[in-house]
Amino acid sequence: MPDDQRFADRYSRQILLRHLGLEGQRDLARQAVLVVGCGALGSHQAELLTRVGVGTVRVVDRDVVELSNLPRQTLFDEEDVAARRPKAEAASLHLPRINADTTIDARVMSVDADTFGPLVEGISVVLDATDNFATRYVINDQCVARGLPWIYGGVLETSGMTMTVIPGRTPCLRCLFPEAPVDGTVPSTATVGILNTLPALIAARQVTEAVKILLGSDAVNPHLVQLDLWGNELRQLKVVREPGCPACGKISASPLT
Ligand SMILES: [Zn+2]
Repeated sequence: MPDDQRFADRYSRQILLRHLGLEGQRDLARQAVLVVGCGALGSHQAELLTRVGVGTVRVVDRDVVELSNLPRQTLFDEEDVAARRPKAEAASLHLPRINADTTIDARVMSVDADTFGPLVEGISVVLDATDNFATRYVINDQCVARGLPWIYGGVLETSGMTMTVIPGRTPCLRCLFPEAPVDGTVPSTATVGILNTLPALIAARQVTEAVKILLGSDAVNPHLVQLDLWGNELRQLKVVREPGCPACGKISASPLT
């Protein structure tokens, strides 16, 4: 089957969408997204980005696959656990079987302010799939300084939240909480648990926002969205940009505005 026909066939249901069309689908294939963390959120994000047809999915994680990951980290299986395979390496094994046209750029490493620069080379959007605030604030500060959009995602027990940050246009994480909570002083999935359905929903929201940004859509959600799957609650909180925000207070223009 010729490449053009194969492309049209694979993405036929998305090309039908008035939000994408053939040009939008081709646009996705030219862009790259960074997924920071390849646990529950990152597994779902990387798979959805690969299936939706983003050109390059860069995945970074330093951990290995463990048995307790399998209920919610859908990219991995028992063989990955037995092999003690790094999550990023396991992702680079499984994702090309889903879509060989997407380049999977997997990196087994830690993310901090010193390593962040090379990770975002050529990247259009960054997705937060971390499990700690220290890294999340690195993402915020580094992305805001570069004018790079990123999408916050957090999951705990049966509740999660997302917020899309477009530097210069929407509030950033420090507008909401100026200082990062000290990890270990706040509840985590390791202490209070998590239901395996939750990351799928939060990751789907984040990837949807990423696709909107990649396509230049003005439908990006400017609110902090909170979901409680067990309590049947959905709330959207308006967050305002803080003029004195240490991260984004002096940013006045965004490449997207
Ligand atoms: Zn800010």
